Amino acid sequence: LFVTFEGIDGSGKSTQCRLLAESLQAQGIEVVLTREPGGSDGAEEIRRLVLEGDPDRWSAETELLLFTAARRDHMERRILPALAAGKVVVCDRFADSTRMYQGLSRGDLRASVDQLHRLMIGHEPDLTILIDMDPAKGLARAKGRQGSEERFEDFGLDLQQRMRAGFLELAAEFSDRFRVIDGDRQMDSVARDVLEVVSTALPA
Ligand code: C5P
Repeated sequence: LFVTFEGIDGSGKSTQCRLLAESLQAQGIEVVLTREPGGSDGAEEIRRLVLEGDPDRWSAETELLLFTAARRDHMERRILPALAAGKVVVCDRFADSTRMYQGLSRGDLRASVDQLHRLMIGHEPDLTILIDMDPAKGLARAKGRQGSEERFEDFGLDLQQRMRAGFLELAAEFSDRFRVIDGDRQMDSVARDVLEVVSTALPA
């Protein structure tokens, strides 16, 4: 089972990924917990190239190509082998983040994102959990983080509002695999809902 988490910065995705992986492992299920951009050695190098240093180093188009290359490496080396071995893969962000960040906020590149995805990735998650979050609260959380790589916090609330709306539109577009969970609650309550959704998707 291939499960991805999506949401705006500060929505609590990473915490929920970790809690889900721990709960599944406690049930004796083999889990690979991973993230994007990154997740394999090569893809983590690409992450550093893009997210660290001068934010204007790459055009939006080049960034899209780099993140697609990173995803391809991550798929080949980690995700597909784990799925083939019957493991559950829990991934913090995946192609839907590219549809949003490179497709929406870094330029009007959605058509290119979709074409590249078809050409070079060609694989969607079985289940995508959107942790939905009020952007003002998400922003406050993201800003409070130490050593944060967050790129979009300074663009402020307006962009975050558009991103949240965009993620909800994606959830409607891919309603067969998306489940929206209200992230604006106690961590444990969110985790309980996540586990319930994932448990129903696990093979019996
Ligand atoms: O989710 P994480 O905190 O690891 O993401 C790091 C930064 O990269 C975030 O600010 C996120 O918005 C950004 N990002 C991006 N394009 C992606 C995925 C993440 O710009 N496809």
